[in-house]
Amino acid sequence: MKELNYCWRCGSELVRRQDEGRRRYYCNTCEEFVYRNSVPVAGVFVIKRDKILLIKRGGEPNKGKWSYPAGYLEYDERPETGAVRELKEETNLDVEESKLELITTIQLEHPDKYVVGNAYAVSSENVKGDLNASDDALDARFWSIKEMKDNSGKLESKKIIEAAQKAISIIEDD
Ligand SMILES: [Zn+2]
Repeated sequence: MKELNYCWRCGSELVRRQDEGRRRYYCNTCEEFVYRNSVPVAGVFVIKRDKILLIKRGGEPNKGKWSYPAGYLEYDERPETGAVRELKEETNLDVEESKLELITTIQLEHPDKYVVGNAYAVSSENVKGDLNASDDALDARFWSIKEMKDNSGKLESKKIIEAAQKAISIIEDD
């Protein structure tokens, strides 16, 4: 994990200081801790019978790996709004927020931060538009759980398999 070197407020070099049982960054000039938090992401598992829509990542980190359509939330954006927006940007598919089911959260480690995905699911019957990989997605297609397990090295994280299984079971129960 990349270190934080400088204070984002004043640019001074940060030191490490113990706080509440954690080693945190501290700015001696501002006399304040500089907190580092995980970054929220939101995305959608589109379920077609027993298959899950994945996209091939076009951006770093994990470029070329397959993941669920997802991306960073804007500063004031609600997770379900961000999930719908990212699905549209990366796959050209439209879905209404009210059709999304919250499945789980997925924590992933990136080189410089931890991201926490808010993962939603929707049946492909509730999705409109022609599937077309776009924006920072290089490709988009449906995968079975077996295919994901057999090719787990091609996935951004194995955690996506477990979340996809959950998504299928929840959507099938509807
Ligand atoms: Zn400072």
